[in-house]
Amino acid sequence: MIFNVAQLMKSPVGTSLEYDIDEQNVQLDNDLKVIGPITGHVRLRHINQGLLADGWVDLTLAQECTRCLKQFEQQMHVPFEERFYPTMDVVTGAPLRPPDDEEDAFPIDDHHQIDLTETVRQHVLLEIPMVTLCKEDCAGLCSQCGKDLNEGPCDCKPEVDSRLSVLQTLLQNQE
Ligand SMILES: [Zn+2]
Ligand SMILES: [Zn+2]
Repeated sequence: MIFNVAQLMKSPVGTSLEYDIDEQNVQLDNDLKVIGPITGHVRLRHINQGLLADGWVDLTLAQECTRCLKQFEQQMHVPFEERFYPTMDVVTGAPLRPPDDEEDAFPIDDHHQIDLTETVRQHVLLEIPMVTLCKEDCAGLCSQCGKDLNEGPCDCKPEVDSRLSVLQTLLQNQE
């Protein structure tokens, strides 16, 4: 997801360019498995401090259900916004000092290119919920026999938690 922004940085502040994103075989992160292309749209705008990239990507991730451990495909729509700062003057080539809030932005590289891959990776990671479910009402696995309860009930007795089991023992002793 590399864009050359030399022309844009030579244009007046406020100028913007728009691009479609259509990337095949993107490896975003070791822990993320992207299925198929990443598509989307980005607007690059020349701003006073450098460049602002905002847009969105659509992608499909291979996920594992938190409850039943089944693999499933999760479609995601991920908006993003990122600021980039120039590291050299686009006309003279003179090096520029990084801005004071450097950690909030990414550098434009020596070839006047920006790479949105890291931006997209970070935004995708933020959008992934803590709990990923194959379906909202996934019944999960039986904690005793491990059967997938989406396929039907098992023969296990319902589990009682430890406080209740004390009560159960008391009741049994009374019988
Ligand atoms: Zn599930
Ligand atoms: Zn069971």
